[in-house]
Amino acid sequence: MRKDLSAHGASRGCALGRARVRLPHALDIDEARIDDVDAELARLHDAIAAVRSEMREMRARLHGALAHEVGEFLDLHALLLDDPELLQGLDGLIRDGRYSADYALRLQRDRIAAVFAGMDDAYLRSRIEDIDQVIGRVHAALHRRDAELQGVAGEILVTDNVAPAELAQLQARGVMAVVTSGGSALSHSAIMARSLHLPLIVGAADALQKINDGDVLVVDGGSGLLVREPDAADLRTHRARLREQARERKQLHRLRREPPRTQHGFDIKLWANAESLEDVAEAHALGAAGVGLYRTEFLFLQRNELPDEDEQFHAYRDLVLGMTGRTVTIRTLDLGADKADRTGLALRDEPNPALGLRGVRLSLAREALFETQLRAIVRASGYGPVRMLLPMISGREEVLVVRGMLKRVMRDLRSEGHEIAETIPLGAMIEVPAAAIALPTFIGAIDFVSIGTNDLVQYLLAADRNNDALGDLYTPLHPALLRLLYTTIRTARARGKTVAVCGEMAGDAAFAPLLLALGLEEFSLHPATLLEVRQAIRGCDLGRLRARAGALLRARDRKGIEAWVAANVAAS
Ligand code: PEP
Ligand code: MG
Repeated sequence: MRKDLSAHGASRGCALGRARVRLPHALDIDEARIDDVDAELARLHDAIAAVRSEMREMRARLHGALAHEVGEFLDLHALLLDDPELLQGLDGLIRDGRYSADYALRLQRDRIAAVFAGMDDAYLRSRIEDIDQVIGRVHAALHRRDAELQGVAGEILVTDNVAPAELAQLQARGVMAVVTSGGSALSHSAIMARSLHLPLIVGAADALQKINDGDVLVVDGGSGLLVREPDAADLRTHRARLREQARERKQLHRLRREPPRTQHGFDIKLWANAESLEDVAEAHALGAAGVGLYRTEFLFLQRNELPDEDEQFHAYRDLVLGMTGRTVTIRTLDLGADKADRTGLALRDEPNPALGLRGVRLSLAREALFETQLRAIVRASGYGPVRMLLPMISGREEVLVVRGMLKRVMRDLRSEGHEIAETIPLGAMIEVPAAAIALPTFIGAIDFVSIGTNDLVQYLLAADRNNDALGDLYTPLHPALLRLLYTTIRTARARGKTVAVCGEMAGDAAFAPLLLALGLEEFSLHPATLLEVRQAIRGCDLGRLRARAGALLRARDRKGIEAWVAANVAAS
């Protein structure tokens, strides 16, 4: 019988398919004993090795924003999987208790859960989800054939929660959409789903009780619509929505050659955030003005030795060559905090790493490492226009020290006979609130500004960007952020310096009118949403939006800002 279930949209797109229900894993495994200990140990180790290589493959496939957002989860899961206590505990249960590998997984999971449950810190307590996902993966690998049945082509997976890394695999198998009973639209799984263009519905609290395997479902990941056993009217609406989506896609595709120009002919610059050569190719094909953010730390992650000057030079040079004369903005190392494990560098444990030796602070503390990177970047400038961007700047002193180093490196390279650019524009990322407030004190020492809203929101609102439990507390729709964006943009432009936003906010078409109203003229975003943002910009009347900036800045809370955004949606 037809039933509407209440849920929230987390990743746009419509789907019609049969449900595949996956009940919470690893919790209902009955006690079982085995005779052949060695065979059972081998079975477990094979499963763990299979999961390790699956995760390695997924890591290698991630690129761009995905690598950043989802990579850290994969890294954490890989670490858990290598944890000697977890592994020895499992071996011990099989060897001494003669338990089956499945039951050993369950016992071990319950032991770890008990330790986590006793923790004071709510965030750490909530990380039991990661243990569940890792143990669930190993359990699935023990039963590979069953696991493969979970979500096949044409099906809609209904589950309690889904790991970010699983989504790419599910999509590759032809799963059309995912519905979760828990989760939030801000989770990393939601970010991953949006990047993959895989429809995702979250918070469908009744889904596991009300939906059975094989039920037909209609989902709309935009509005959060979830209907079990749709009737004729639902099917008609679904078909109309699909036609609408196809029309939108076609329209977007046509925009590849259109400039990002507002209604009355004002040109906005759209740069691409790119981490891989695939991103570069996509950015180039979609007509990006250049690369506005290249995150170099990804060359350093997941390895045991540091990339040397030549390895870095080759990566930067290929990036420059890939953009065929369009400017490339190379950000210096932003290691530290959540981008710190396995870097080839012995990084110190810090009590509060997000406030620690991160970004340019680390570079300045490790002069030889930084100089190697500067040399590689400067050498790449001989192959096309390069700008250099500094992450986590908090004040003038840091900029001046880097300026001095850059000057010396350029002089050395010239005297060594390298062909390098005359000048390399130096920019600061504005992501520490102090840098935004003190920008007038160092704007004269830099050539351009790029606002990293991902971190600026985190540090301004004291809300960890990786903590889904904070929900609405981590949001760019806060009056403090809008005011800071406005003054930062004004300060830079008053001194004739260009200013872009390169955080995820710039890649959300819904925010384009808001950013234009605040005076922004340059956006840097992942190629995945470049056409959508270009379309939104083309629908904007810049004069009208700027005239409404006052009302936007007077909004007193998130609701007020949302009302402004809703009233100023770009006409398309
Ligand atoms: C940001 O903080 O907005 C940013 C673009 O940098 P990252 O996401 O790499 O920290
Ligand atoms: Mg940042």
